[in-house]
Amino acid sequence: MTTSLQVPGTDSAAARLISEASKALAFGGLSDLVWGHVSVRDHANRGIWMKESGLGFEEVAPDSVQLIGWDGTVLVGTGPRHIEYLIHTGVYAARADVTSIVHAHSDAVNAWCSLDVPMRPLTHAGMIFSNPELPRFDETANLIRTPELGERLAEALGDAVGVLIPQHGFVMTGEDVPTAVMRAVLLERAATTLLAALSAGEVRSWASDADLAEFAWPPNQIQAGWNYLVRSALAMEARTVVERLPL
Ligand SMILES: [Zn+2]
Repeated sequence: MTTSLQVPGTDSAAARLISEASKALAFGGLSDLVWGHVSVRDHANRGIWMKESGLGFEEVAPDSVQLIGWDGTVLVGTGPRHIEYLIHTGVYAARADVTSIVHAHSDAVNAWCSLDVPMRPLTHAGMIFSNPELPRFDETANLIRTPELGERLAEALGDAVGVLIPQHGFVMTGEDVPTAVMRAVLLERAATTLLAALSAGEVRSWASDADLAEFAWPPNQIQAGWNYLVRSALAMEARTVVERLPL
């Protein structure tokens, strides 16, 4: 599931991409009211692009996306800044291979984390996160509100694709925005399936080690999934606008 590094080449492209990514996350079931965010590195290394705080994923328009400098200064955009931008700056500082980061507080991942049971490869989505398993950051369930916490979260992440934060949420990375978003959506889907199986009875069957060793999610399918999420989210938004038009 690897793609080439891809940073939007202009400010407007970065803002549009974060808007689309946010709406894709909403359509993919990652919403927690107005909390959670997705970021991408700035093309000139001035900082990171992410939404202003106070908006749900589905509400993020390009003009509600900010460029936040590495020191936390809002360089482009208006509105309040998310406190947890420090998750993003901490991980980017530690991982030169990461171009995009998703932080979400989604229901199924939080419920699964509370069980502290391993991810089982019950589906293709589960196969991504069961070999190897995601690390956990157990230091605090509260907000990542200091640079030091951001650094220690990045240490817990290590070279993994993501890290679980029990009683809070998770952080997912990608070489580009579609990869980070798709990994986040697939983790929530994998957790949903596992919870359903665990609540129904004893789980007796999952993918073999041989299947796991052979398994790979092709980049073109990551792109196809991303395209589906974005066009579905935008189509739903368009239908909502039409429904609100006066007769
Ligand atoms: Zn959070």
